[in-house]
Amino acid sequence: MQQFSIVIALVCSVWLASAVPTAHAAPCLLVTITGAMGGPPNFNGLAGPGTLVRYGDDSNDCGTVKLQFDAGRGTSVRLSQIGVTPGQLNAIFFTHVHSDHADGFADLMQLRWHYSPKGPKLDVVCSADTVSPQGFTISCSRLASHIGDVYLQSGEVAQRVFEDKSRPAGGPAELTRFIAFEPKNDPQVVWTSGDVKVSTIRSAHMPGHASYRVDTPAGSVVIGGDAGNDVFAPPRASSTSEQVEQLARGADVIVHSAIHPVMAPDKGSGMPAPFYFRQSMATDLGAMAKRVGAKHLMLVHLIPPVGAERQGPWKIPGGSLTEADYRKAVETSGFSGNIVIGADLATVRLPVK
Ligand SMILES: [Zn+2]
Repeated sequence: MQQFSIVIALVCSVWLASAVPTAHAAPCLLVTITGAMGGPPNFNGLAGPGTLVRYGDDSNDCGTVKLQFDAGRGTSVRLSQIGVTPGQLNAIFFTHVHSDHADGFADLMQLRWHYSPKGPKLDVVCSADTVSPQGFTISCSRLASHIGDVYLQSGEVAQRVFEDKSRPAGGPAELTRFIAFEPKNDPQVVWTSGDVKVSTIRSAHMPGHASYRVDTPAGSVVIGGDAGNDVFAPPRASSTSEQVEQLARGADVIVHSAIHPVMAPDKGSGMPAPFYFRQSMATDLGAMAKRVGAKHLMLVHLIPPVGAERQGPWKIPGGSLTEADYRKAVETSGFSGNIVIGADLATVRLPVK
């Protein structure tokens, strides 16, 4: 009898040993908010808008591929808190080039140029130059090609190249590989690596705005950015984007900028109506997440941020909002999935552990 149980124990341990590597190879996806601030103002140390999407397997903490979506103020600081260096990013995608979404890009590129000068170049993915109806040009390509200009002008690039000749003399922009696309009303694939596929769709907010979807064997995530509805103001079916909804069908996670209904023009905040109407309302985002069957809704770029007395120059009617206020605004829609009210470094993992 004793011998028999020893044999069983041996068989079990052999089985366990062979089972472990299989379990470690399970694919996984991490979606991390690198900055949750809504809009250009500063509040309480929140970093500017951005989302890091990591994909890999259990053996490398889901870290084979690292994709950054937008890079607001302080992005590199937040990345440092989760052990990601600018040199490790495989690509950066911009929803649009408002400065609050791009303030951290120069910092990321300068650090990459400084510490990873031999490359590889960083894929910079965004929409092609767009001439607005008013005649000005929105140019992500020039943002990328001039990203190191202030450091060239200050002389820092020349000084640091003197110290280390492996640094490209043209500065940080030389380490970008620009990939442009024409935003369209149907999804198009703009970037792939192994099992990871990134698609984009046009969305409304400012000329050239686009939203993204990442598909992996571990799940999928949609990054809406500041998307709003093509119909700029009521009457309309929703404040959310129909293109984002199309992109988000069947997605597991939606990360989206949100405005709270308390800021509406008729509620006394003083925020100009066009600023309010070009964002998606928290309640409408819940309704969209429900329609597309998403399991997780991560609200970011909160206008106003939780706890803020003001949003820039505008007051919050009734005083500052709590996380529960945002949660309630989403739940009104009937969405019953996981709601994450954005804070810096909030993370959703797929599969959920
Ligand atoms: Zn924004």
